[in-house]
Parts: sequence; C-alpha cells; structure tokens
Amino acid sequence: MLHAKTRLDHPQGATAMFRFAADHPEYITGTEAGPWRMQLPLGGFDVRRDGAALLVEATGVNPIGLSYMKLIFVDHIREYLAEEVELHWQGDGQSHGVPPFFREVRVTATRRLTPSMQRVTFAVPDLHDLPLDELHVRLLLPPTDRPANLPPVWPMLTASGALSFPTGADALLVRVYTIRHVDPARGEVEIDFVLHPTAERSAGGWAATCRPGDVAGLLGPGGGAIPQAPRVLLLGDETALPAIARMLEAALPGTLCEAIIEVDGPGDEQDLAGPVEWLHRRGAAPGTTRLLVEALARRQPSDDLYVWAGCEFDAFRDIRRHIRSVWKLPRDRHMAAAYWRRGVAGEMAEEPHHTSAA
Ligand SMILES: Cc1cc2nc3c(=O)[nH]c(=O)nc-3n(C[C@H](O)[C@H](O)[C@H](O)COP(=O)(O)OP(=O)(O)OC[C@H]3O[C@@H](n4cnc5c(N)ncnc54)[C@H](O)[C@@H]3O)c2cc1C
Repeated sequence: MLHAKTRLDHPQGATAMFRFAADHPEYITGTEAGPWRMQLPLGGFDVRRDGAALLVEATGVNPIGLSYMKLIFVDHIREYLAEEVELHWQGDGQSHGVPPFFREVRVTATRRLTPSMQRVTFAVPDLHDLPLDELHVRLLLPPTDRPANLPPVWPMLTASGALSFPTGADALLVRVYTIRHVDPARGEVEIDFVLHPTAERSAGGWAATCRPGDVAGLLGPGGGAIPQAPRVLLLGDETALPAIARMLEAALPGTLCEAIIEVDGPGDEQDLAGPVEWLHRRGAAPGTTRLLVEALARRQPSDDLYVWAGCEFDAFRDIRRHIRSVWKLPRDRHMAAAYWRRGVAGEMAEEPHHTSAA
C-alpha cells in the first residue's frame, strides 16, 4: 500500500469536507466533527481535524490508486470551497508530471454497430497497468487545426495532485465515455459512441469520421462501480448502453440483474448478457421523452433492490425523484447520474458535486 499526507489550512476546510461526505455517504463515513474516511477499491483517504486545519492521509493500492485519491480529494475540496487551494503532498507517488493513468492512444479500427452507434477500437500502451475493472475514461481529442508535426499537448499533474489541462490553441475536447470492451492480449479497448447531429465539433462527430492511425488521449479508467445486490435494475438511454452492457456481463451468479433501455427503434437494440426491456422513441428527439421514468413507475421496489440510472439530465432528475420520493430507496441503494444534457456541450451534464474521478 502506498501513502501520502497533506495538510489543508483553510477556515472552511472542515465544512467543505463535511459537505463532501454528506453528498457521498456511499463512499465516505464520518460525522460533522470528523474524522472522515473514504474507501474505494483502488485506495482511500482519512481526514481529521487539527485545530482549524485538516490533516489528510491518502492510500493507494498502486501509483494510479494513490494518484486518484489525491485527485479526488483536491478536486472535491476545491469544488466545495469554490476556490483554487494549493496542497503539498509528502510521501509516495509522484505529485506532478504525466499522470500514471494517462495514455496516448491510436485508433486501430472503427465500425458502425447500429444506426446510432459507432464502435472505435484503440491501441493502448501498457494497458495491463490500468485498473481495467473501472468503467469510465475521459477521452481527449487534440485540436483539429494543428500542423501534423506539432504533437498534442496532454494534461499534467500539478503539485496539488490536480490535473492541469492545456488551454488556448492547445485546448483539448474532453468528454466522458465508457470502456465497452477490454482486450488485454491485444492491448486494445473499444468505446461505443452515440452518433448525434450537432453543428459544433463533438466527440460523436469525431467517432463518425475517425480513421485508423488517428491519435487521442485517455485519462482513467475510473469510477462507475458495478452495483452488487440480490436484485439490480439498470436504466438508461443509449449513452449508458455500454455501461449497462458491462454491468450485465459482470453480474454475479444468483443475482437478478435486468435493464430498461431507451433507444430510437428496434434497429438500435443490441444483444446483451441479461434481460432488457427496450423502449423506443420512434423518431422523438433524444432527451425529450419520459419513457424511462414511466417504465420505472410501472414496477415495484423490493427490500433487496439496487437501482442504477444513466441518461439525459431531465430524465435523470425524474428518475431520481421517483426513486427517492416515491419509492423511498435509501442513498446506498441507488445511483443516478446525468450522462448528458440537452442543449449543453461537454461535461456540464452533471449537477455540481457529482464530478467523476475518471
Ligand atoms: C460516466 C459517463 C459515461 C458515458 N459513456 C458514454 C458512452 O459510452 N457512449 C456515449 O456515446 N456517451 C457516453 N456518455 C455521454 C457523453 O459523454 C455525452 O453524450 C457527451 O456530451 C458527448 O460529447 P459530444 O462531444 O459528442 O457532444 P457535446 O459537444 O457534449 O454536445 C453537443 C450537443 O449535442 C448534444 N448531445 C450530447 N450527447 C448527445 C446524445 N447522446 N444524443 C443527442 N444529443 C446529444 C448536447 O446536448 C449538445 O447540444 C457518458 C457520459 C458519462 C457522464
């Protein structure tokens, strides 16, 4: 196990930490007065008060795990403080430079899977060193107008353990995607991109036209723990189809794991490793229907049920409201996330306080 320590001297530090913990009871334990403890498969951190300051000890099962814990702590504390605090870590692991969870990747193949989905295969150097059970990555696309002899500028770790992204002419298009398949023997991963028309440069547009040899960056994978419960219900639109597909494949024997998935029509359905109720928009614009929440409302909860949902922002809010207010499922028995938001580009789909590590 690797260890690193830091100290946060900020009058609002403990309040920020308490709010961080209160928003993530599934990962973090602790009372308003502290101490707090976060535990994830790749590591964790302990935070305790020292007068007005916070003492933080991060642990990781390997350099990537430790780097994730530093990143999760600094990102969330900055978010809750709404301030760019600097931290100085002492102990194991690098505190600046190329993140151990960054890879420059190259497209090796691309094919249309269904009318709405493009599968892109990437060659990933040192794939074995990455935490391949984790689901999500940040895909980084270099600017299109760069001269061919000018390599992309990739993100770096700062001394605080945060990520610093290139800006201006070097700025990257950054989007969150799910690793659909991993092939460790070939050193390749596959990502399934939803093809959606938009006038702006987009990752979906890039996937539709990319060619073998094209270069991108990957940060991660991280996050997206696969729910384990006697009964699991997975809901999502096509952006969550890759995540749901992996979760169905990872379901333990004896678990009743089923899915409800919204797509445009029968041609967008895929063969998955578990029972699926397919919902069809039939030409309605993505993100404008209430199909998912209506399908949820037709079912009944049970004491052993875990519900997972990933979809457009409005649908996510409807689903979360139903799960919490009507079904009254406790926080540790559901996870709902906005995977995208109609009319909004990039990572703004998520509500504040729901950023992901990958
Ligand atoms: C944890 C996580 C995992 C994800 N996994 C996947 C995945 O495996 N595959 C996948 O395709 N997506 C996935 N997404 C969703 C994806 O990140 C967003 O759809 C993202 O906005 C796509 O980026 P873009 O550059 O193509 O479009 P953007 O530049 O972000 O958006 C441009 C415009 O297109 C709209 N738009 C964005 N996505 C869609 C859509 N799906 N349908 C219709 N309109 C859209 C936006 O509202 C905006 O108006 C995931 C999201 C999260 C948070």
